[in-house]
Amino acid sequence: MNIAEKLSSLVKFRTVSSFRPEEEDEKPFAALIEALPGLYPGAHAALERILVGPRGIVYRWQGKNPSLKPAIFCAHFDVVPASESDPWDEPPFSGTIRDGFVWGRGTQDIKVQIACILEAAETLLSAGFVPERTLYFAFGGDEEVGGRRGAGAISKWFSGQNVHASWVIDEGSPVGQGLVGFVHKPIALIGIAEKGYADIVIEVPGQGGHASMPPRNTALGALSHAIARIEDKPFPARITKTTDEFLAALAPHAVSPYKQIFSLRHLLTPVILKAFSATPSTNAMVRTTCAATMAQASPKENVLPNLAQAVINVRIMPGTTVAQVIDRFNALIAPYGAKAYAKFPEHTVEPSTESSTSSEGWNSIVAAISEAFPDAIPAPFLFTAGTDTKHYRGITDDIYRFQPLVQTQADLAAVHNVNEKVSVENLERCVRFYRALMNQQ
Ligand SMILES: [Zn+2]
Repeated sequence: MNIAEKLSSLVKFRTVSSFRPEEEDEKPFAALIEALPGLYPGAHAALERILVGPRGIVYRWQGKNPSLKPAIFCAHFDVVPASESDPWDEPPFSGTIRDGFVWGRGTQDIKVQIACILEAAETLLSAGFVPERTLYFAFGGDEEVGGRRGAGAISKWFSGQNVHASWVIDEGSPVGQGLVGFVHKPIALIGIAEKGYADIVIEVPGQGGHASMPPRNTALGALSHAIARIEDKPFPARITKTTDEFLAALAPHAVSPYKQIFSLRHLLTPVILKAFSATPSTNAMVRTTCAATMAQASPKENVLPNLAQAVINVRIMPGTTVAQVIDRFNALIAPYGAKAYAKFPEHTVEPSTESSTSSEGWNSIVAAISEAFPDAIPAPFLFTAGTDTKHYRGITDDIYRFQPLVQTQADLAAVHNVNEKVSVENLERCVRFYRALMNQQ
């Protein structure tokens, strides 16, 4: 079976996770775990497999040198829902292989990574390779809904085994092709930091009653002012260590005038911040972002609301905390009688620290990129979405978030969307990357 056929088999398991576990079907998760030894017999013969509950799979590949800290390769085998009635060109759980692509949910996010990590191990084992340091593969089955049963449980298992890793690699940003206008070469975006996450409720109490004799401002009117105030006062933009290093890495390859601007970035910070603020994708790199996403007030047209509530989805820059976000909102909206608090305090995530760009892990990843993606410029990056690595912060100091696939804007648009697919060429590059990365350990 080739790598495309193996990924195709994994896609067929409908491992859709949900925030309500009672809505999940446990059978495809168990079936996927059961299918892995048949797909990767060599890896299953040589590596120790530890199942950590129903949603955590750990593989342990014993290294020769016990004095070296291990490295951990992560991925997740759950996916977001996909409906056959949506306009997919091939059904989302068919795993169809057609025209040089594997189609379906999980082909990009992120069963591809499980397939390619195990394939790389399989081929290295058949060549007789034994790593110097111990390698772990850690696959969670609920990343899309927080990762507690998968990565969270695995992290506890690692702690119980006293595993402190040299570095961890998980899903993240891709080898971007044409994602930015200022560099024409592909950029291997290595996420060295990850934004924090919070859903913040903005709430205004009101005086209920008949809408025929209303006060000057209803609770909903006051709430609207509060939201407008938050939108009018965005968080200040700043260049973090990650973005500074991103600009430094790209400066030699950028077109004019960006080449000069990035080189003189410490003098031209205001110019860069203004330019980055103008586009949502680069704006997200320089500030904590706030998106008003939900609102509710009175249940009926002619009834004054007793309470008006909105939700602001916040993605928090490294160096800012959830508590600081709430304090800032409260200071901004107090004049409207509004208050702010976390909707699900247990689901807020503080931003990560910024990993090293001179560590063993960084150097290995950059060397593997030069083998698998020789044209690409490696650059540190702030990953603006969330990953399972939030559970591994106590296990290692250096976490890298990288998806070894060449992706255009159109490719990225298919993630969590219809027509998610991956080219066979990309699959082969992905295996080459993991092989090169493992081979150096
Ligand atoms: Zn994912």
